[in-house]
Amino acid sequence: MQTYDVIILGAGAAGLKAASVLQSRKKSVLIIDMGDVPARKVAISGGGKCNFTNLRADWTRYFGKNPRFVTSALAQYKPSDTLNWVKSHNIKFYEKEPGRYFCQNGAGDIVRALLHDIGDIKIANNTNIVDVQKSDDIFTIHTDRGIFRSESIIIATGGLSYPHLGVSNIGHIIAKNFGHKIEPVRPALCAIKTGAFSDDLAGVSVNTEILIGKAKIHDDLLFTHFGIGGPAAYRATLFGEQNININFAPDINVFDLLKQSKTQNGKKSVQNIIGEILPRNLSRFLCDDTRNIADIRDNELRIIADKINHFEINDAHAIGLQSAEVTAGGISTDKISSKTMESQLCGGLYFAGEVIDITGDLGGYNLQWAFASGYVAGLNA
Ligand SMILES: Cc1cc2nc3c(=O)[nH]c(=O)nc-3n(C[C@H](O)[C@H](O)[C@H](O)COP(=O)(O)OP(=O)(O)OC[C@H]3O[C@@H](n4cnc5c(N)ncnc54)[C@H](O)[C@@H]3O)c2cc1C
Repeated sequence: MQTYDVIILGAGAAGLKAASVLQSRKKSVLIIDMGDVPARKVAISGGGKCNFTNLRADWTRYFGKNPRFVTSALAQYKPSDTLNWVKSHNIKFYEKEPGRYFCQNGAGDIVRALLHDIGDIKIANNTNIVDVQKSDDIFTIHTDRGIFRSESIIIATGGLSYPHLGVSNIGHIIAKNFGHKIEPVRPALCAIKTGAFSDDLAGVSVNTEILIGKAKIHDDLLFTHFGIGGPAAYRATLFGEQNININFAPDINVFDLLKQSKTQNGKKSVQNIIGEILPRNLSRFLCDDTRNIADIRDNELRIIADKINHFEINDAHAIGLQSAEVTAGGISTDKISSKTMESQLCGGLYFAGEVIDITGDLGGYNLQWAFASGYVAGLNA
C-alpha cells in the first residue's frame, strides 16, 4: 500500500489551499472527503457570490480563546495574496464595501480555481474518516472505504454548522486523541432567538449599534418572526452572550431630542416624535404613549429614551448550528504552532481552517483564515 507524504482530511477551502501548496512542492498527496463534491461551503458562501477575503483582516477581526494566533498565518498569506490569486485566475470580482470582495459571477469560480490549483492530486470522495492512529512515524487513516497511510496529515475537517451539507466532529475527536484540548463548540454568525420583540416587527430593518460588554457593533438589524437577524445580529452571536444592549438610534441622543421637542413642540405626541426617527412599527412597539410631549415628566421621557438608545435583551440565543455560517470553538490553539500549524504534541500532525478555535467576523474573514492557515499547513507538512 502506498504511503503518501501527506494526507489531507477534508476538501474544503483550507484543505484544498493546503493541497495546492503541496502540489507545487511536488509532494505525494491524497485528500479524503465524505462529500460527493469538494468545497460545498465555498459553493454556497456569500449568498452564492463568495465573499472570499477582506483587506482589513487582522487578529482584531477574529474570535476564540487566543485570536492573536491568526497573526503569523495572515502575514504569510495576506488578504492581498488571496485577491491576487483570484486575479491570477481571471475571476471577475467586486468590492462591496472597502476591502470586502465578492465574486461577480458566483462562488463556483472560487471552487474551480481551488480545484485547478491542486493539479493531479486525487480526492477520495464519499469517504468517511472514522479514526486516525500513529505508529512508527506513520499515520494510518481509517475510513469506511479502507485504510490509508501517510507521513503527515492535515486536519481540515471544518466546523459543525450547516449539517445538511455533511459535517462531522471527527477533526475534534482525532485532535483530542492526540492530546489536544477542544474548546466547546457553538453556532455563530446566525440569527438570534429572543422573546423581547413582537411578531409584528418581522421584516422591519433598522441601523443599530449593539453593545456587548465593551464591544460595539454598528450594523443593520432585521426583525424576524422569532427574534432578530441581519448583519448586526449575526455578528453579535460571535460573543456568545445572552445579554445584549441595542441602540436603535445610534446617531441621536433621544432624551436630548425629547427634551428639546418638549420646549419647542409641546403639542406634538411623543409617539409621533419617535415615529420621525424610527420605522413606524418599531416606534409604535417601543413607545405606545400618545400623550402630548409637554404633558410628560422628564423622568418618563428618560424611560422612553432609554428603550430606544439602550434596549436590553437578556435572552439572546444563537438560533442553531443548522443555519449558522460558522462554528465557534474547536481545537484549542494552545498546542499548535501559529507559524507552521503543526501540533506541538505530535510531529507531522497539522491543522487548518474552521476546525481550529478561530472564528472570523462577518465579511470574508473566515475564508481568509481557511486560505491562510491552509497555505501555512501546506508549506510545512
Ligand atoms: C451559508 C454559508 C455562507 C458563508 N459565507 C462565507 C463568506 O461569504 N465568506 C467567508 O469568509 N466565509 C463564509 N462562510 C464560512 C466559510 O465557508 C467557512 O468558514 C470555510 O468554508 C471553512 O473552510 P474549512 O476548509 O475549514 O471547512 P469546510 O469547508 O467545512 O470543509 C471541511 C471538509 O471536511 C469534510 N469532512 C468533515 N468530516 C469528515 C469526515 N468524517 N470524513 C471525511 N470528510 C469529512 C467535509 O465534507 C468538508 O468538505 C460561510 C459559511 C456558510 C455555511
